[in-house]
Amino acid sequence: MNLTILGCYAATPRTLTNPTSQVLEIKNRLFLIDCGEGTQVQLRKNKIKFSKINHIFISHLHGDHLYGLIGTISTFSLLGRTTDLHIYGPKGIKELILLQLRLTESWTTYDLFFHELESKESEVVFEDKRVIVKTIPLKHRVYTNGYLFQEKPDERKLNVEAVQDYDIHVAYYQKIKNGSDITLDDGTVVANEKLTFDPIPPKSYAFCSDTVYHEAVIPIIENVDVLYHESTFLESEAALAQKTLHSTAKEAARIALKANAKQLILGHYSTRYEGIEPFKKEAQEIFPNVLLGDDGVSFSF
Ligand SMILES: [Zn+2]
Ligand SMILES: [Zn+2]
Repeated sequence: MNLTILGCYAATPRTLTNPTSQVLEIKNRLFLIDCGEGTQVQLRKNKIKFSKINHIFISHLHGDHLYGLIGTISTFSLLGRTTDLHIYGPKGIKELILLQLRLTESWTTYDLFFHELESKESEVVFEDKRVIVKTIPLKHRVYTNGYLFQEKPDERKLNVEAVQDYDIHVAYYQKIKNGSDITLDDGTVVANEKLTFDPIPPKSYAFCSDTVYHEAVIPIIENVDVLYHESTFLESEAALAQKTLHSTAKEAARIALKANAKQLILGHYSTRYEGIEPFKKEAQEIFPNVLLGDDGVSFSF
C-alpha cells in the first residue's frame, strides 16, 4: 500500500497547510479519502492521476473534509471523464452535491454513484477481488465514519523447482496456487506446502478522523498495520478535545496501543500550534511507532 497525505490540518486552509484529504493506493487502485478544500490542487502537486480515482470516501460532512468535493467532481467533467465515479459518505451527501450541480447547471460527463451511509455499526462498503473496505463508526459532533482498507490474501507462490522435480503438468499450476494438494500418477499425494511458498501477507490501513477518544473502534481495527488517527490537540488542550469531540496525540496513541497497531500516523493538527513535533513526542510516551503525517508526505507499507 502507498499512502499520500494531501492535507492533514484541522479547520481552514492556510498558505502552507491543507485540510484533510489523502490518497491510498492498493494493488493499482486509487482511493481518495476525504476531500477538503484544495484537494484537486494537492492532487496535481503530488502528480496523482485524476483518471485513476474511481472511489471517494468521505468521513463526515464538515467543511474541512468535504468542501473540495464539488470542485473535484466538476474538474473531472471538464477533463472529459467518462468512467463511473463512486462516492461513499453520510446520508445527505447526494443531496448536497446534486443541489450544487443543478444550481450551477454543470452536469457531469460521467455517471456518479452515491453510497449513502447511516449505520452505526461497521459495514462493508466496497469489495472486489483484491480489496475490502469497511466503515469504522466514530464519535464526533456529526455522523462520522472512518474507513478500514484491507487487502485480500494473494494466491500462493509457485515453487517452480519443486513442481518441475515432481514433473507436474503446467495445467495444475493454478490449482496449486489456489492451495490444493496434488496426487501424482503413482498415487502419491504431494502436500501443497511442498509446492508453494507463502504469499506476502495482506496489509491493512485504518483511517480514523474526526473523533473523540472512542474505544469502540478497537475491535474493528485490531492488529491493523497502519493506523491514521486524528490528533487535533496536545495534552494541554485535553479538555477542549473532549468538548469539541476531537482527540489528543496521547489518546490517538492509546488507541494504537490497545488495538495492537503496528504503526501510528498522526494528523488533523490544530493550526494553533507552532509546529507538529510535540505531537510525536507526546504520543511516543504511550506508543513507540509514531510517524507524523504532513501535507505532501507519502508512506509505503
Ligand atoms: Zn476535521
Ligand atoms: Zn469534523
